[in-house]
Amino acid sequence: MLLFTPGPTPVPQNVRNAMAQETMHHRTPEFEAIFEQTRKHLFKLLSTDEVVMIASSGTGAMEAAVTNLCKNTLLSVNSGKFGERFGKIALAHGLKNVEIKNEWDTPVSVEAIVQAVKNNPDIDAIAVQISESAGGLRHPVEELAKAVKAIRADIMIIADGITAVGVEMIDVSHIDCLIAGSQKALMLPPGLAILGLSNKAVVAIGSGVGYYLNLASEIKKQRQNTTAYTAATTLIIGLLEVLETIEKNGSLKRLYGETACRAKAVKRALEAIGLHSYPITPAKSMTTIIDENASEIRQLLKEEFEVNIAGGQDHLKGKIFRINQMGLISAYEMAWVVNSVELALSKLGRRPYDGTANRVFNEVFFGVES
Ligand SMILES: *Cc1c(COP(=O)(O)O)cnc(C)c1O
Repeated sequence: MLLFTPGPTPVPQNVRNAMAQETMHHRTPEFEAIFEQTRKHLFKLLSTDEVVMIASSGTGAMEAAVTNLCKNTLLSVNSGKFGERFGKIALAHGLKNVEIKNEWDTPVSVEAIVQAVKNNPDIDAIAVQISESAGGLRHPVEELAKAVKAIRADIMIIADGITAVGVEMIDVSHIDCLIAGSQKALMLPPGLAILGLSNKAVVAIGSGVGYYLNLASEIKKQRQNTTAYTAATTLIIGLLEVLETIEKNGSLKRLYGETACRAKAVKRALEAIGLHSYPITPAKSMTTIIDENASEIRQLLKEEFEVNIAGGQDHLKGKIFRINQMGLISAYEMAWVVNSVELALSKLGRRPYDGTANRVFNEVFFGVES
């Protein structure tokens, strides 16, 4: 079965092998050397001033960012389930929350953010997804961060990059906290979250908030290549292997280039067989299609063509399907995925099969359009 859900994503064979070694003790020079190497790679991946790894799923990093960087009011952007989660985290910790809510296909506007900041002097942090995975949407995070910093430089910008870090180059000039998670673009099993921090964020964190998710304790320890509590050793060993593999495959730049090219080719292939992209501003992390037969298409893909893709949640259940673009994906696998979608449409009596999706995918991906 081909796993093409936008998280979890497949773990490459060499990464699984690396994680299959004997368990290591975390307080040893051997593990500290691995930790140090991993940190070096993470600085390149995130381009931030500081990085911290924590043993939790991505939501743990979202919570750590909010509790350590927001003292008063969090402005959050809800264009889907993950954006909604930031608001819930703030409220769960007794913080105030101002939310800008839109339909799941609609990116937040920079003007709406600027207006909210001007209207509410209590806002001291903004949390937004770079790629909102609920509807496969890209928010204009870099632009809104720049606009906010121009009027209130002290506001902390928290960017959830769980489906963006490892997908595309992110300009962190105005971002204070950039979050990544293991089981999405980083091609690992779930359980490891990463936060990239600006120097301003490190200052704002001060002595930190909370206990397990106190970022000050982690920053202090991780600068010495160790962790405050037991490190997720196996996942960190896997992460180092992933980051080394990306480098061996021709660097991050090549990965970003291929991901963008594949996302474009899949979108074109599916549009060529009459399907429609859902988000107004699609993220490169996944291809999201709105279709009345979304459930049937997913079911046919799974049962007849051995392809596992994701559906939608809440009000989009049965209305969309999402195909992963994150990670090191072989073109022949993706060609099979779009071909399967075309076969499914033919089985549903929507359109006679003629191989268009496969042809268009290959023409666009390999640049051989006539
Ligand atoms: C998956 C995801 C999360 C949540 O991560 P968990 O690992 O499920 O806690 C947060 N934000 C985005 C954009 C995601 O795609």
